[in-house]
Amino acid sequence: MVLSLVEYDAVVIGAGILGLATAYHMKRENPDHRILVLERLSGPGQASTAKSAGMFRVFFYSRTNLKLAHTSVAFYKHLEEEGVKLGIRWVGYLWLFDEEAYSRVRPVLDALSARGLSYTVYEARDLEAMMGLRAKVSEDEEASMMGLPDVECGVFVPEAGSIDVDALVRFYEASFLRLGGEIRYNTEVKGLLLEPRKPLGLPGEPFLWQEAHVAGVETDKGAIRARKVVVAAGAWSHKLLSQIGLECFSRPKKRQMFSIRVAGRPELERLLWSKGFNKEGCMPFTILPRPRVYIRPAIEEGALWLSYADELGRPFEEEPELEPKPEPEFYEYGLYQVAVKYFPQLEGCRPHASWAGYYAENPIDHQPVIFEEADVIFVGGASGSGIMKADAIGRIAAALYSGQEEAELFGGETFRVSDLGIKERRVEPELLVI
Ligand SMILES: Cc1cc2nc3c(=O)[nH]c(=O)nc-3n(C[C@H](O)[C@H](O)[C@H](O)COP(=O)(O)OP(=O)(O)OC[C@H]3O[C@@H](n4cnc5c(N)ncnc54)[C@H](O)[C@@H]3O)c2cc1C
Repeated sequence: MVLSLVEYDAVVIGAGILGLATAYHMKRENPDHRILVLERLSGPGQASTAKSAGMFRVFFYSRTNLKLAHTSVAFYKHLEEEGVKLGIRWVGYLWLFDEEAYSRVRPVLDALSARGLSYTVYEARDLEAMMGLRAKVSEDEEASMMGLPDVECGVFVPEAGSIDVDALVRFYEASFLRLGGEIRYNTEVKGLLLEPRKPLGLPGEPFLWQEAHVAGVETDKGAIRARKVVVAAGAWSHKLLSQIGLECFSRPKKRQMFSIRVAGRPELERLLWSKGFNKEGCMPFTILPRPRVYIRPAIEEGALWLSYADELGRPFEEEPELEPKPEPEFYEYGLYQVAVKYFPQLEGCRPHASWAGYYAENPIDHQPVIFEEADVIFVGGASGSGIMKADAIGRIAAALYSGQEEAELFGGETFRVSDLGIKERRVEPELLVI
């Protein structure tokens, strides 16, 4: 008889926002369980989580998205009210639309309005006055050659803003540790231990006639056995899961951010500090009409961050180094060329900093994926909204771990765990995509 000692009730791979939120809620629900988080980097939230824009919105068409985001944001807001400093700034989102796109989105906006979600429509000329927008780009020969459309109007969503992602990560890390959870940094998981449920001690197990399951992980510092293994390794999850023949329906897409300082450029300072939108007295998170390049006000550092989620032509793959590299030409020939047409204040601006990370994208319906198979729980596929949905995703993954069919989200709303699974998946498509 082979002895297989279980050291932990659960091992969670990855100390990004999703791994930590999941680990915290697992431990909160199961205080006597031994739960260990393993992270190959030297601290929490240093991979894609650290690269994010840290934006959130409580404004989605899909009821799935809305529930995940609105309960998570309510939790973050509650934490701040309790004294946890998360740097939440309600700067709002401003979507700019051309005439055709606006006529297409109007029924969606009407539906959201009927559900009680609020927004304000600004005419193009208001935005010209408020933030120095150039709405009629078609008058510019280059812009019209590039196919950039004129701005018809802007839809401003007030229930949206930014959050200090590092502070949120630290909250989950500290709360998990306070409950007695364990974390080992600088520990890389090399593979999942696939074993027969009833081992016979024969070399070459598990054989196809044996029922196999994951019994722990192999790390660069040795094997660790656990009853359940939670894979929350972000854009790298598919590498661990595909080794044992499991598919997680999410793949890495590189995303890049370029930061422009406004100091010393009065016209840029005026753009950053555009008045009339929010209590911060700054421009909202602004999404251009087409292509949907976005500009994030980074008032904490006196900067504007520019980015764009390019799809076709951008491969689903990770770079060999752990740290993906931003591409200067992506800014120079792409982002800048589009943004400067709508905001001529950006003329001649070069980024002082840039970075890149990954969306772990589920290309089928772009929503998170949470399922269990052979004692492995996968949590991921959060694409570009993992921060704003992290708390709900953590609670749903923890409910799956605890064997519950329904998760209780913050505020008491429930969520059917299998809705984000594979076999009984039930999610509503999103019609308001950035
Ligand atoms: C440029 C950019 C902008 C974004 N903007 C926003 C935004 O505004 N709002 C929003 O809500 N979301 C945004 N996102 C998305 C958000 O950042 C992600 O959804 C979220 O961070 C995913 O968290 P995660 O924990 O799954 O991944 P990660 O943070 O990548 O965490 C996974 C962890 O697993 C570790 N790991 C991987 N493999 C192993 C292994 N074998 N052994 C041990 N450890 C391992 C990694 O080191 C990493 O720390 C953005 C993302 C990017 C890249």
